[in-house]
Amino acid sequence: MSERFENVPCTICGQQNAEVFMTGSGPARVVRCRNDGLLYMSPRLKPAIIREQHKTFVRADNLEMFTGFRRAMLRREARAIQRLKPGGRLLDIGCATGTLFGFFQGSGWRLHGVDTSQTGVELAAQQYGAEVFCGTLQEARYPSRSFDVVSILDTLYYNPQPERELLEIRRVLKDDGLLALEIPGYNYRLMRERGPLCWLLNGAWVRGFANCSHLYFFSPRTIRRLLANAGFRIVRVVPEQASISVAGFGLLLNHLHFAAARLLFHLIGVSIAGKELYLAVKAA
Ligand SMILES: [Zn+2]
Repeated sequence: MSERFENVPCTICGQQNAEVFMTGSGPARVVRCRNDGLLYMSPRLKPAIIREQHKTFVRADNLEMFTGFRRAMLRREARAIQRLKPGGRLLDIGCATGTLFGFFQGSGWRLHGVDTSQTGVELAAQQYGAEVFCGTLQEARYPSRSFDVVSILDTLYYNPQPERELLEIRRVLKDDGLLALEIPGYNYRLMRERGPLCWLLNGAWVRGFANCSHLYFFSPRTIRRLLANAGFRIVRVVPEQASISVAGFGLLLNHLHFAAARLLFHLIGVSIAGKELYLAVKAA
């Protein structure tokens, strides 16, 4: 194995008892833990290399990814959060350029953002008046029980140690605080990686998790387990739309898929949505 990669234990059970689920083109593999079913990348790039990649995640040439097509989703997610928490201190982890803050502009909110991208946090501070920290949540060393809402949207699966991240979120969240966690939909993700939908959208039967920056693929069961282990209780799950980076017919299909996914979720509780928002509180 290349010295850039390392084998890692499962973040839920702490053991290395996994079978290969899917291989890609390089040394990275997606494995499934035999104990709890968690799908994760192992071997994967070493943390220092991952950290370097994240620093340039937000760049002058890809700002549209953060300011453009995510906007409609973030507006809906902000509304879902504000239904439960109408004001207070919001911390957005992985805030990128701060697009989420645009939907928390009332006087009742104080905005804080964390991101390892300097370009991202500078824009978030300039555009939305957010207090920002360039680095990781662990490095920010916020005092305990500081925030009414902590959001981590489409970000947790990049973190090499998600359980440690959730424990730190729990520490900085007020006792009656709200966690808003958005992750990719598991069923949707699997359908995108192989089979007919993969062929339709990517022109190949197997994509094989080609994007090895995603370290975890949480299912409804494994994310529930991870949140419970970190001391959280889920109060609501909201199906969300797949990322829209396409126009024309692809965009229409995306909207149709989202409508079908919402209906299916409300009818039988099964999610084929592109993303899922978990709202959770501290467990008693
Ligand atoms: Zn495990």
